[in-house]
Amino acid sequence: MPYVWLDVERDEEGARLRDLAGARPEDLPLVLVPDGETLRAPTPVAVATALGLRTRAERDLYDLCIVGGGPAGLAAAVYAASEGLSTVIVEHDAPGGQAGQSAAIENYLGFPRGLSGSDLAQRAIAQARRFGAEMVLARDVVALEARGLARAVRLDGAEDIEARSVVLATGVSYRRLGAPGLDTLVGRGVQYGSNAGQAAACAGDEVYVVGAANSAGQAVLNLARYAERVTLVVRGESLEAGMSQYLVERIRADPRIRVLCTTEVVGADGDGHLERLTLSDRHTGASTEVDAAWLFVYIGATPRTDWLGADIVRDEHGFVVTGHDLVTGPHARGWTLARPPFALETSLPGVFAAGDVRSDSMKRVASAVGEGSMSVYFVHRYLATI
Ligand SMILES: Cc1cc2nc3c(=O)[nH]c(=O)nc-3n(C[C@H](O)[C@H](O)[C@H](O)COP(=O)(O)OP(=O)(O)OC[C@H]3O[C@@H](n4cnc5c(N)ncnc54)[C@H](O)[C@@H]3O)c2cc1C
Repeated sequence: MPYVWLDVERDEEGARLRDLAGARPEDLPLVLVPDGETLRAPTPVAVATALGLRTRAERDLYDLCIVGGGPAGLAAAVYAASEGLSTVIVEHDAPGGQAGQSAAIENYLGFPRGLSGSDLAQRAIAQARRFGAEMVLARDVVALEARGLARAVRLDGAEDIEARSVVLATGVSYRRLGAPGLDTLVGRGVQYGSNAGQAAACAGDEVYVVGAANSAGQAVLNLARYAERVTLVVRGESLEAGMSQYLVERIRADPRIRVLCTTEVVGADGDGHLERLTLSDRHTGASTEVDAAWLFVYIGATPRTDWLGADIVRDEHGFVVTGHDLVTGPHARGWTLARPPFALETSLPGVFAAGDVRSDSMKRVASAVGEGSMSVYFVHRYLATI
């Protein structure tokens, strides 16, 4: 959905529209929809509905329900719908997943100059729609249960979608930093796994990034195109330990980026928006207060699987165990049928997992796309057994 973001404190037009709508601070953000009413601090479902996006399923029963609209879920949708399965994706935010937040995916086969995550997501959404996959957006899946041969997926608000098979493609979400003051500033300068598009909002500002893996490295390079200065805060002794060499080299070559190793963010402060951070040197214990308008945090991710019941076996970190690993190895439990599980099948027959949420998966766009596509092959084989 094309949109224009106006900051009421920076853009005259934003302030003018706010005054025109008679909006109070608690009404922000205002969403102005062409030919529609002005939405005040709306929920994602309200925005999706106002934009004419689907937030409910059309049918009573589908061949396949896909939970999560990241690369894995979108790939599963493209293959399932193109092969004639009635298919619905439920996505609690907007489709694209983590990949949608990446400014440049440089290692995806066939794109030697890289492509942006949002570009990849837009193409995949168009493709899935063209084949007739239905998308239910801005809805969270909160439970899954077996009802005879059907699998019921419960949405927030207590609505159900029934399907003959399910692909779990819920990916991972970012870990939070525990420092005092940060939680109240989330979305007000403190951003977790943030959208590449937000970089432009940092124009001329002092920006901090926490993290030492490739996602932090990519974010730093993207933010440095706009910000006055970007500081990368790393707990470890060096960048090389967790980041690809090509990113380390680009970071070191960029004069707007500085790297602070053996440093932690231990506090944050600001009146309505982040203004200051407290940093601590892990060797000396000395702390320093610095001006900062933005803090982007990339410190690893955990799977979103709390809502799955005991029927779905997970490993010690919450990732979903599939296929062969259900019958041999440290997580072997929960498989009840005489036939062996299909690859990517979970301990609940007919429910598959693909992408980052799956135990021992590669955690890359290409592998998520591969697993999502492949899951449909096993869905067909499963459907032939029931
Ligand atoms: C900033 C950044 C840069 C990256 N760069 C690269 C790169 O250059 N190359 C590369 O190969 N990989 C990269 N990655 C990793 C890559 O994006 C992921 O491996 C990939 O997106 C995983 O896809 P997925 O579909 O399994 O999960 P995700 O992309 O995490 O998508 C999961 C989706 O499920 C939805 N969801 C979760 N729970 C529910 C629920 N209960 N109900 C409904 N919906 C739900 C989420 O909203 C999300 O949209 C990057 C990641 C980030 C964050």
